[in-house]
Amino acid sequence: MPRKRIDTEPDAHGHFGPYGGMFVPETLMAPLQDLEREFRAARRDPSFRRDVEYYLREYVGRPTPLYFAERMTRELGGPRIYLKREDLCHTGAHKINNCIGQCLLARRMGKKRVIAETGAGQHGVATATCAALFGMQCVVYMGKVDMERQALNVFRMRSLGAEVVPVTAGQQTLKEAISEAMRDWVTNVRTTHYVLGTAYGAHPYPVMVRTFQSVIGREARRQILKQEGRLPSALVACVGGGSNAIGLFYPFLQDRGVEMIGVEAGGLGIRSGKHAARFADGRVGVLQGTRTWVLQDSEGQIRLTHSVSAGLDYAAVGPEHALLRDLKRADYSHVTDREAVDAFYTLARWEGILGALESVHAVAWLMKNARRWGKKDLILVNLSGRGDKDVQQVSAWSAKHGGPKA
Ligand SMILES: *Cc1c(COP(=O)(O)O)cnc(C)c1O
Repeated sequence: MPRKRIDTEPDAHGHFGPYGGMFVPETLMAPLQDLEREFRAARRDPSFRRDVEYYLREYVGRPTPLYFAERMTRELGGPRIYLKREDLCHTGAHKINNCIGQCLLARRMGKKRVIAETGAGQHGVATATCAALFGMQCVVYMGKVDMERQALNVFRMRSLGAEVVPVTAGQQTLKEAISEAMRDWVTNVRTTHYVLGTAYGAHPYPVMVRTFQSVIGREARRQILKQEGRLPSALVACVGGGSNAIGLFYPFLQDRGVEMIGVEAGGLGIRSGKHAARFADGRVGVLQGTRTWVLQDSEGQIRLTHSVSAGLDYAAVGPEHALLRDLKRADYSHVTDREAVDAFYTLARWEGILGALESVHAVAWLMKNARRWGKKDLILVNLSGRGDKDVQQVSAWSAKHGGPKA
C-alpha cells in the first residue's frame, strides 16, 4: 500500500494542524478573507501564472543555478554538495520571488498602493523594487532603531521611490513595524495591499508566501534530477520566518527519502538566552495573527532575540514549519553566531561566494554535520542571499570577537 501523503494544506481558516489560523481583530477578518479568495482565483488563472513566470524569468533572472560546490565537497570529504543560488536573484536574495507574486496579485485586485514591514531592510528593498517595476505607491514601516542600523537599505528604498516610515513604539524593531503595517492596512484596505515578507502571520499569508517561494524547490528538484539523475539525500536551509526554507522544502515533501533540515539562529548559544532558536527554547503561543512556536517568558511576554544575522532575528517561526516538525518530516537545528561567521569566511575562500549571514547558517550546519553522509549522497543547501549587505557587520564582528579576519 502506498504511504499516506504528507499533508500540510491548511484548512479554510489557515490551520496547519494545531498551528496557524487567523488571530486578528475583527476589522482584519474581511480583508484577509478577500485576499484569500483573490489569491485562490489568481492561482488558477493561467494569465496570472504567465505574468509571474514572465517577471521571474526576465526581471529576477530565474532559474537560478544549482551549483555543484566542487571545492567544498572535496574539502569536507563527504557528500556531494550543491548550492541553490538564490543570491543571484535581482536584489540579491529570494525575497523578491514573493514580492513579484504579491505585487502582481495587488495589481490584479486593482490596488495601486503597497505597504510592507521590514527589519533589516531586505524585504523593504524587494517590495520597493517591485513597486517601482509596477508603478505602485510604496510605504515601508521600519523600526527607528533598525533604520539607524540599516541606513544603507533606507537609502536604497528611498532611491526606489518608497516612503520609509520610522516606527517608534516598543523596541522600535521588526515586531512593532509589523503592527504598524497592520494598522495602515486596516485603515486603507480598499486601495492598499500589505506585502508580508515571510511565510508567517495570519492566513492566507503563510500559504501564499509558500506558493510564491516554491519556485525555488521546483527548480532545484528539476535541476538535481537533470544534473545527477536522482534526488538529494537532504535539503538544508536557514529559517527566519521560514520562507526560503519552505520554498525549497515544499516541492520535495512527498519524496520521503529526502531529509529536510531547517537551521535557526543560535546566537550566543541557547544557554545564554541570546538567540532566535524558537524550536530549541520557545513554547507554543500566539503572535501577530498566528499560533506557532514563540520565544516568550513564563508570563507570555515576547523575549528579546539576538542573532548576528538580522534576517533570522525574530521571536516566532512560520506555522507550517511547526507542523512539519511535529510530523517529523523536517528537523530543526541551530548554529551560533561564531559558527555562522566562520562559515561566511570558509564559503568565501572555498567557493568565491560571499553568502548572506542568514544563508551561511545553513552552510555552517552542513560543515558541522557533513560526515553524517557518504560520498554518494547529494546535499542541497539553499544559499538564500548574497553577503554584500553584511560585509560591514562581519568585519565589525571579527574585530570584536576575533577568529578569521578579512
Ligand atoms: C530575510 C532573509 C532570510 C530569512 O527569511 P526566511 O523567510 O526565513 O527565508 C534568509 N535569508 C536571506 C538572505 C534573507 O534576506
